[in-house]
Amino acid sequence: MNRPLVIGNWKMNLDFVEAVHLCQQITVLLKNQPAPHVDVVVAPPFVDLRSVASVLEAERAGIALGAQHVNVHEAGAHTGEVSLGMLARLGVSWVLVGHSERRAHYAMSEELVGATLRSVTRGSLNAVLCVGEDEAVRDAGEHLDYVRAQLRSALSGLEAPARERVCVAYEPIWAIGTGRSASASQVAEMMGAIRDELAERGLGGARVLYGGSATADNAASLVLEGSADGFLVGGASLKADSFVAIVRTCDDCYAVSANRR
Ligand code: PEP
Repeated sequence: MNRPLVIGNWKMNLDFVEAVHLCQQITVLLKNQPAPHVDVVVAPPFVDLRSVASVLEAERAGIALGAQHVNVHEAGAHTGEVSLGMLARLGVSWVLVGHSERRAHYAMSEELVGATLRSVTRGSLNAVLCVGEDEAVRDAGEHLDYVRAQLRSALSGLEAPARERVCVAYEPIWAIGTGRSASASQVAEMMGAIRDELAERGLGGARVLYGGSATADNAASLVLEGSADGFLVGGASLKADSFVAIVRTCDDCYAVSANRR
């Protein structure tokens, strides 16, 4: 098992006061009972980044800052958008690329996902490439080919040093925000396909996370049987207790898998 990574995607929730509060609660919980084997990232809305960065810096809790999206251009006439340089300057070290909500509702094409991935990793930030099928694709039994095609498209043209800054989040669209997580065996099957594709493209060691109604109750089986290297967490990341419980589960799972070795 790779070192686990757990990312909280706060989506369009929490104003900056609420975000600071949640961040403080998470840091207190993790300071009281650390999870030394897990990398933890929080990805607030853009307008909360500066405030959350201040808390993370002051608390020194070892939590990294993430952004939910970035514009592919460096600067210029892109009203309402945010650049990589702006994010880096705020201390952001992780960026989600191609979340299914961006693809579905904000016209993020496969081409743009690939270009954004190249731009993020060229800029020395870490990227979380989000992939996953909808229910119709799964029902048709085409989910493995679909996700492999998403990976091929996004990863083409990625240079060797940049590959080390990529991790993948498998997020079946039918599981996001529905309370209906994929089963451990569904995740294990997909993790195998994703890792095969990554190995063929020179990203053999990349971490592969699971996202989609992950909770502290299903996290252990998704890691130990599903072979996820951690989680991209939406709903359960909006409460400190439920988010930190997932982090702790990953910490325990890592210890279990280290003992098995
Ligand atoms: C997500 O949108 O990245 C996500 C995983 O959401 P949820 O955990 O709420 O399903």
